[in-house]
Amino acid sequence: MGLEITHLGSGSRGNATLLSAGETRVVVDCGFSLKQMENRLAMAGVTGDSIDAIVVSHHHSDHSKSAARASKKWGARLYSNLETAMRLGLEPIAEVRTFEGLERLHISDELSLLPVPVPHDDADNVAIIASNGDGRRAAIVTDLGEPTVELMKHLSGCEHISIEANYDLGRLISGPYPPSLKRRISGRGGHLSNEQTADILAEVLHPGLRSIVLCHLSEKNNAPHLAESEVLHQIGEKFEGVLSICGQDGPEFTNKLGLSEAEPISAA
Ligand SMILES: [Zn+2]
Ligand SMILES: [Zn+2]
Repeated sequence: MGLEITHLGSGSRGNATLLSAGETRVVVDCGFSLKQMENRLAMAGVTGDSIDAIVVSHHHSDHSKSAARASKKWGARLYSNLETAMRLGLEPIAEVRTFEGLERLHISDELSLLPVPVPHDDADNVAIIASNGDGRRAAIVTDLGEPTVELMKHLSGCEHISIEANYDLGRLISGPYPPSLKRRISGRGGHLSNEQTADILAEVLHPGLRSIVLCHLSEKNNAPHLAESEVLHQIGEKFEGVLSICGQDGPEFTNKLGLSEAEPISAA
């Protein structure tokens, strides 16, 4: 059985990722307008009403924007932790199924998700480790100031890792943001720099890691070539898989575990 990962777009203006395993489809984060979500899903050949579940990593609007409306319209179960549900004004049980950190979400026999808590601003954010029925695993990790021991443990066995490379430290320091915002972004609760992301990947790299997608790049404080060169500098000699960058527009490609390698999506 395969496990397919399709980023519908990633960045400060919205994040959403489609996971498909067999007949099961899950959207991790729903940070675009409902219309945009449906357009982007259509480009990936998927309709909203075929989505089984939506998981919201944390309450920031670039991850949650249309989640509640999409859940109702598509008939998809909505999942978040309690803090996120409260921050979004969602009623547990009636509107959202709440989970605890490290509580496995059994979506179907084909797909389960493990939410791993990560430090981020005033949000109770989680990284998502998806497992298909064959035990193939893929990680989606964005919006964290630094990795935790728990996260590193769970990343170690993944065949696919989507991880944020939010800012280049040099660009952030010399860039236009006020000092307080610079401190927040680079602090424990902010985002990962290219260098932090490269360090994480170097530590969890193993021969079974097939694909890496760098996401949530800052448009002001980063550039694709900076993120890519930092990561390749750290892991280029050992990593034999596919390294891609996900931009704000999408979807552009699908990573397929247990099937063939990344395949481009032809423009609709
Ligand atoms: Zn974000
Ligand atoms: Zn955030």
